[in-house]
Amino acid sequence: MTEWWHNRSAIDAHVHVHPDMAAELLDIMETNCLSSVVNAGILEILGLPFEEGMRAFRNVLGERMAYFTTPDFGDTIPGFGERMAEELERKVEAGARGLKIFKELGLRHKDASGNLIPVSDPRLDPLWAKAGELDVPVLIHTADPVAFFQPLNEANERWEELQRHPDWHFGGPEFFDHDTLLAQRNCIIERHPETVFIGAHLGNYPEDLAYVDVCLDHYPNFYVDTSARISEIGRHPAEQVRAFFLKHQERVLFGTDLVLGWGVFEDCRNRVFSEKLGFYDVHWRFFETNERQIDHPFPIQGRWKVSGIGLPDDVLGKLYFRNAQRLIPGL
Ligand SMILES: [Zn+2]
Repeated sequence: MTEWWHNRSAIDAHVHVHPDMAAELLDIMETNCLSSVVNAGILEILGLPFEEGMRAFRNVLGERMAYFTTPDFGDTIPGFGERMAEELERKVEAGARGLKIFKELGLRHKDASGNLIPVSDPRLDPLWAKAGELDVPVLIHTADPVAFFQPLNEANERWEELQRHPDWHFGGPEFFDHDTLLAQRNCIIERHPETVFIGAHLGNYPEDLAYVDVCLDHYPNFYVDTSARISEIGRHPAEQVRAFFLKHQERVLFGTDLVLGWGVFEDCRNRVFSEKLGFYDVHWRFFETNERQIDHPFPIQGRWKVSGIGLPDDVLGKLYFRNAQRLIPGL
C-alpha cells in the first residue's frame, strides 16, 4: 500500500461522537493522521446541552472539530421552519458550522396534524434558505440503502442487517419509496441554489453511480460524501468507480460515519472501530491502491469484497481535505 496519507492530513467529514468520547476520538485522529472531523448532530440527537457539549469538544479537540447542529423536529406546529431557521442562526453564532439532517426527515417526522413531512415540504424552506444565508453547508441523509425499501425476506441482500435492526426496514406502504425520497431531496437542492447540500452516503444512491452522476451534473450546489458506503461504492467495477471519482473530484468529500458513544450503532460499527487503524486503513487502501478483494469496513452490510480504485495524489488531496476546507467554515 502507498504511504501517501502518512504525510498528509485527512478530514473525516462525517462522524458522530459523544462529547464523553472526545479523548478517544483525538487518539483515533492522531493514530490515523486525521487533521479534523465533522461531528454531526450528536448533541441534539442524544438531548445533551449544546454549550456544555461544545465546551467539552473544544477542551479536547480545540479547532479540530466542526460541529453540525440538527433541528428539533419535536416542534412541528405551524411556523416550525422559521423557528428552525432562527435556532440554526443561534447555534451557528454559538459555534456550529453546518446543519445535519437525519434520514428521519421523509421517513418518520410528522407535522402537528400527524402527516409525514416530505423532504421537499415548503414549510422547511426558511431553514434551507438560512443555511445558505449563513454560508454553512447542509449535510443531508435522505432515504437509505435500496435494499431497506425492498421486501423483507431472505432474498433481501441486507437480510442479516435488517434482522438485527427491523426498524431500518422501510418497505411498508406508510413510507415513501427510495427514489421518491431522493426526488424530494433534489427539489430542495434545486429550489435553494445558494445553499450547499452534501448528500451523505454518496447521495444515498451508491448502488447507482449513474444516478449520482446525473445529480452532480445537474446541481452545482450538490456534493456527496463517502460515509459508510465503501461497501456499496466498491461493488462496481473499479474502473467505473475511478472514472466517477475523477470526473467529480471537486464534489466528493471523504467521510466514514465513525460512531463513538451512540448506542444504537455500537453493534454494527464500533466492533471494527475498536481496531482503530484497521477501520481507516481499509479506506486508505480503497482510495489509494488497486488492491482487489478487500474486506470493506462495514461487514454487517454484506459479505462481499471491494476493489481499490487507486486515485492519483491530486484527486486524493481534494477528496481527503481540500473539498471539505472549501465548503466548511474554519476547517
Ligand atoms: Zn451518519
